[in-house]
Amino acid sequence: MTFVIKCLDCGHSAPYFPSSTTCPKCGSQWREAEYDYELVGRTLLGKLKMREQNLWRYRELLPVNNPNTTLSLGEGYTPLVRAVNLGMMLGCPNLFIKDERQGPTSSFKDRQASVTIAALKEAGFTEMVAASTGNVAISYSAYASRAGMKLWAFVTSLVPAVKMREIALYGSQVIKITGSYDQCKQVAAEFAHQRKLYLDMGARTITSIEAMKTIAFEIAEQLTVELGEGDNTPLRTPDWYVQAISGGMGPIGVYKGFREMKQMGWVDKMPAFAPIQADGCAPMVHSWKKGLEKAEPVNNPKTRIETLATGDPGRAYEFLKNYVDNTNGVFESVTDEEAFRAMHVLAKMEGISAEPAAATAFAGLFKLIRAGIIKPSDTVVVNCTGHTMPAEPGVLGENWSRDVKFPTLTQTPQEEGLLSALTQVAPERFPKIVIIEDTLEARILIRRILQSQGNFTILEAENGREGLDLVKHELPDLVITDLMMPELDGFSVVETLRTHSETATIPVIVVTAKELTPDEKKRLSGHIQALMQKGDFLNDEFLNEVKALLK
Ligand SMILES: *Cc1c(COP(=O)(O)O)cnc(C)c1O
Ligand SMILES: [Zn+2]
Repeated sequence: MTFVIKCLDCGHSAPYFPSSTTCPKCGSQWREAEYDYELVGRTLLGKLKMREQNLWRYRELLPVNNPNTTLSLGEGYTPLVRAVNLGMMLGCPNLFIKDERQGPTSSFKDRQASVTIAALKEAGFTEMVAASTGNVAISYSAYASRAGMKLWAFVTSLVPAVKMREIALYGSQVIKITGSYDQCKQVAAEFAHQRKLYLDMGARTITSIEAMKTIAFEIAEQLTVELGEGDNTPLRTPDWYVQAISGGMGPIGVYKGFREMKQMGWVDKMPAFAPIQADGCAPMVHSWKKGLEKAEPVNNPKTRIETLATGDPGRAYEFLKNYVDNTNGVFESVTDEEAFRAMHVLAKMEGISAEPAAATAFAGLFKLIRAGIIKPSDTVVVNCTGHTMPAEPGVLGENWSRDVKFPTLTQTPQEEGLLSALTQVAPERFPKIVIIEDTLEARILIRRILQSQGNFTILEAENGREGLDLVKHELPDLVITDLMMPELDGFSVVETLRTHSETATIPVIVVTAKELTPDEKKRLSGHIQALMQKGDFLNDEFLNEVKALLK
């Protein structure tokens, strides 16, 4: 807990005081905390096992002298979840999700708010100002209420109303700014300046960067356990770290965490960084792709993902660009539609409901894997930065629910009413699909993809012989079959189906892990309706094909 604040421009060191936001020597706003890494590196790792599972377990590396445990809501140490289904769909089995939705207010901003409020409380502050696209203000509000502090929350009018109401519920003053997020920040800064109030400065806030670095510490600890390497040092680091960015504070802090661990000898490798932006507001991505040293701001952000709408990243870009280049990482952007689609995939395949901003990171992951930049053998951690609560209107599309009206008792007897209600829930018969596939995981995956997108009666067979019997007996509406299988291979299944009159017209989709030779393709041609490669499940093609064939 002995630390100094070092200027990133002139190197001058000064003691920490939250209200001093510039270097006393050169005036720079870009400074960071520096600790006695030699001492902490030697002593802290051994103590961690006995420590509580929240971010204060790293208190020797946090800029708070006496962490006030009564303010804590259990922030940090969120689970690192293995994404088995997604990993299989993407052909990238070592895929992990850092589930920051499990913070006290359901986003990774809880780290920033808890550490900053603790430092401010310690220094005697009673009020503060923050500009926010929602989550920062929600989180600051929660911790401010515990600390008996007042928050002035400046939000853009596009912030979802549910988020605004949550900020207000915690007792903060909500100020709605009709304008861009960058303009909202200007108004907040001016307000704080006039009233001499503490202002959250995003990536230039010492406590925020320090808070974010705990994500890196946790990933290394958790990944080492996940990959079964027990208590060994060095700790494991992923090959890739993927996170959606707006101002870039998150990855800037996380990078510092990995760098400090390397400095202390806890890890020997930095992950490659992949910050992801929304196409409609991607100043960092575009500037990086053009090879620019300074970011070209986007003056009119055109994304519906308000959380990611920082049009002018300022110098955060220069730092992040360095980190990305140093680690052989990449910047990438995705469309709003790709993000919404990733949101569906993540919820339907992994049971994780993420807000569009968080889903943007996953859309970026899909893109980087498809482009071959992230390799199948790479270990990847994606930060799921926040929960979608409740699901934003517009992302679900139509017909996502069925309305069932129970007839009133006087009109119909109870039982008839129940039956009539049930027939409104679902038709008697769903399209019947037979899956013939010898690998259990692949069978489960195909079933899951189908289930998540519609109502089907799904039957499974483990090999060609069983599959053939099942199809003859059930006469399904569609057959999905593998090719390489024991007993009877997929080629023979298809040929046999075509020679029997009852099964001759049942559509067949072949799903295969291998490239087919021209001869093999010829053998199938005319007999099947579609041929799919196993890594292709993320493309809409598979489902579109299924839906078209069932019509
Ligand atoms: C704030 C936020 C982001 C963007 O993070 P920065 O580190 O500020 O760029 C991404 N996702 C969610 C859910 C957020 O709340
Ligand atoms: Zn300086």
